[in-house]
Amino acid sequence: MVLDDLGSSLRGTMDKLRGKSRLSKEDVQEIVREIQRSLLQADVEVALVMELSENIKERALEEEPPGGTTARDHILKIVYEEMVEIVGESTEIPLEPQTIMLAGLQGSGKTTTAAKMAWWFSKKGLRPAVIQTDTFRPGAYDQAKQMCERAEVDFYGDPDGGDPVQIAREGMEATEDADVHIVDTAGRHALEADLIDEIEEIEAEVNPDLNLLVLDAAIGQGAKEQAREFDSSIGIGGVVITKLDGTAKGGGALTAVNETDSSIAFLGTGETVQDIERFEPNGFISRLLGMGDLKQLSERVERAMMEQQEAGEDDWEPEDIMKGQFTLKDMKRQMDAMNRMGPLDQIMDMIPGLGGGLMDQLPDDAMDVTQDRMRKFEIIMDSMTDMEMEEPRAIGASQIRRIARGSGTDEETVKELLQQHKMMERTLKQFKGMGDGDMKRMMKKLEG
Ligand code: GDP
Repeated sequence: MVLDDLGSSLRGTMDKLRGKSRLSKEDVQEIVREIQRSLLQADVEVALVMELSENIKERALEEEPPGGTTARDHILKIVYEEMVEIVGESTEIPLEPQTIMLAGLQGSGKTTTAAKMAWWFSKKGLRPAVIQTDTFRPGAYDQAKQMCERAEVDFYGDPDGGDPVQIAREGMEATEDADVHIVDTAGRHALEADLIDEIEEIEAEVNPDLNLLVLDAAIGQGAKEQAREFDSSIGIGGVVITKLDGTAKGGGALTAVNETDSSIAFLGTGETVQDIERFEPNGFISRLLGMGDLKQLSERVERAMMEQQEAGEDDWEPEDIMKGQFTLKDMKRQMDAMNRMGPLDQIMDMIPGLGGGLMDQLPDDAMDVTQDRMRKFEIIMDSMTDMEMEEPRAIGASQIRRIARGSGTDEETVKELLQQHKMMERTLKQFKGMGDGDMKRMMKKLEG
C-alpha cells in the first residue's frame, strides 16, 4: 500500500516526543525528515514533498498547541491535515445511472479496472455494462469479455471492428438497458498524438459523466506528463491506482492527483474482478499515522483465521475475545494467531482509540510479546491444568511455584505471563462495541 512504512517510522519519531508539551526546532526537523524520506521512497514528486514539509514545518513552529494538547498530538494533527490536503477526498461516485470512461497507457490496468468497476457497481445494486473500444491491443476483447463474464455483468465489444468510435456508438446502443456504462479505451505504449485524437473522438461520442485516469502504482514520475496530457484533452475527474498489491509505491499517482486537481476514486489490489476498493482518505491517512483502521484490522484477523483453519486448527472466533471473555486458552490461541498477523502492537495500532490513546498509557513493552517470551509462555501454559487455563485469576502463590517447577522456568516468568494476560484482557475488552463511530470520534478529538 502507498507509503506503507511511514506509519511505523513516523510513530517511532513521534514516540520520542512523549511527555513534551512544546516542539523544538530539532524535533520538527526530525519529523519532517522522516516524512520526506518515506514520501520520496514512495515516488512522490520532490516538489510536492518539499511543499508538504514546508507547510508542516511552518505550522508546527508557528501554531500554538491548544491548551491541554501534547506536542505529539499537535504535530500529528498538522501532519494529518496537510496530508489530507494533498491526497484529497475520494472522487465522488454517485450510485446512479452514468457513463464513465477510462483512459491510460497500455498495461496500466484499464481493461481489468473496467470489469472490476462493473462488478463493484453490480454489488451496489446497479446494472453496469462494459464497452470495450480497444481495437489496438490484441487480446483486449477476449480479456474484457472473460472478466465481464466472471463479474456477471453486461459486455459489448467487436473483435473484428476497426473503428473504436463506431464500437463506442454501437456499444452504447446495445447496452442501453444498463444503468452504468463503463467505456474502456485503447492505450498505447507511450503518449502519442493518435491516442489522444482517438480518445477525444470516443469522448465526443459517449459524452461521459466522468473520466478516470488509470495508473499503475509503480509509474513514478511519468505520471505527471500523462496526467497533464489526458487532463488537457478530455479532462480527468479522478484517478484509479492499480497494482497496489505489488508495490509499496504509488507516489506517482499522488503526483497525478495533484497535477489534475482531481482525487483518487478506486484502488486496484489484485488481478481478479473483486480486487477493487473505493479509496478512503481518512482510513488511509489514519493508518499512515497509526491512528487506526478497523477495516484493515478485520481483514487481517480474517486472513489469519482462514490460514488457521487451513492449517486444521480449531475454530477460533475473534468475537469471543471481543465479548470480553479472555482466558489463558484464548491467549494461547491469540499468540498463535499473532504469529500469522504480525506483532500485537501493530494490530493494536489499527484499532481506533488504542492506536493513539490507550497504547500511549501502557508501558512500552505491554504488548511486546516477543518470540522468545511467547515460547516460554507456551511451555508454562503446558504445565497448567485446564481449570487454571480457564480461570487464571484464581491462580495463587503455591500454584505459581508448582507451575514454575513443572515447566522448568521461574516464578517470575509465570507471574509475567499472568500479568501479560491481564493486560491483554483489559486491552482487548476495548474491542467491545467499537465501530466506525469511534473512529470518527477519535478524529474529532484529534482535530481538537
Ligand atoms: P490495459 O492495457 O490498461 O487494459 O491493462 P490490463 O487491464 O490488461 O492490465 C495489464 C496487466 O496488469 C494484466 O496482466 C492485469 O492482470 C494486471 N493488473 C491490472 N490491475 C491489477 C492489479 O490491481 N493488481 C495486479 N496484481 N495486477 C493487475
